[in-house]
Amino acid sequence: FTVTARDLVRIRELGRGAYGVVEEMKHEASGLVFAVKRIHSSVNDESNRRTFIELDACVKSGCCPQMVRFYGAMYREGDVWICMEVMDTSLDKFYRICVDTNIPRPEPFIAKVALCVVEGLNFMKERLNLIHRDVKPSNILLNRMGLVKICDFGISGHLTNSVAKTMHAGCKPYMPPERIDGEQRDSYGVQADVWSLGITLVEIASGSHPYGKWKTPFEQLKQVVKENPPTVDRDLGYSDEFHDFISQCLIKDCMLRPKYKQLLEHPFLVNARQESSFDMGAFVKRVLE
Ligand code: ADP
Ligand code: MG
Repeated sequence: FTVTARDLVRIRELGRGAYGVVEEMKHEASGLVFAVKRIHSSVNDESNRRTFIELDACVKSGCCPQMVRFYGAMYREGDVWICMEVMDTSLDKFYRICVDTNIPRPEPFIAKVALCVVEGLNFMKERLNLIHRDVKPSNILLNRMGLVKICDFGISGHLTNSVAKTMHAGCKPYMPPERIDGEQRDSYGVQADVWSLGITLVEIASGSHPYGKWKTPFEQLKQVVKENPPTVDRDLGYSDEFHDFISQCLIKDCMLRPKYKQLLEHPFLVNARQESSFDMGAFVKRVLE
C-alpha cells in the first residue's frame, strides 16, 4: 500500500544532522512505525527531486541484512521525506555512552561492526553498483537484537562527505586524502569508503576522533593529507590483526588501499565471521540500559 506524508503521526525525534531531522513516525492506518528523515530541498521540480534518491537501493535494501531497510521517499511542502526502518541507536551515540560510562569496546564488538559494514558496502557495490560516500559512526545503526546496518546510502553524493561539509563547524573529517588533495576529486572509488571505515574504527576503539579536537576544520584536513595515518594506542589491548586491519584501511595511497574482497579475507574479518561466544545483542542492551 502507499503511505503519504499526511498519514504519518510524529512520535519522537531520533536525531539531528546537518541537513535535517530524523523522527520516529507512525502510520496510523497500519500501525507501522518508520524512521523518517526530512531533508529540506530547495529544488522545486519533482523530477529533479526524485534524482536525490536511488530507487534501486530503496527496493533492494530489503535483500541485505547489513543495510537499513529503505521504504521510499515522499515530498511534502518542498521537503524530501525518506522512510526507513527504525533502529535503536547509532554508533556515534553508542560509543559516546561507552566512553562516558567507562565501558571499553571489546574487540569482538568492533570486529562485528567492521564485518557488517564491509559486507553491506560490498553488497551495495556488487549488486547495486553504488558507492556509499558517507561512511561514519552516525551512519552505522545498531539494535538490541545485535544487528548492525549501514544507512544513508543512495542519497546523492553532492550532499554528503564533501570538503565543503567538513568545513562546517562540528564536522569531523572521514574523507580520504585523495578527496582533499587529489587530482580526481570527482572520481569516487570504493577505496574512499574503506578509508572512512578505518577512521570510524579508530574512533570507536580509541574513544575519540583521531584528528585533533582543538584544530580548525582546515587544519584537520591538512592533517589528513600531510600526516601519517592514525593508529590505535597499543595499550588498549587490541590484537595485531585489528591493528593491521586498520593500517590496511588507512593506506594513504588509494591505489594501494584494499577493496572489499581483500578485506573480507583479512584474518580480522575471518575471525569475526567465526566468532560465536560474543553476544552483540546483550552488549548493546547493557550499554543502552
Ligand atoms: P548524521 O548522520 O550526519 O548524524 P542524519 O540526519 O543522517 O545526520 O541523522 C541524525 C541522527 O538520527 C543520527 O545520528 C542517528 O542517531 C539518528 N538516526 C538516523 N536514522 C535512524 C534510524 N533509521 N533509526 C534510528 N535512528 C536514526
Ligand atoms: Mg546520517
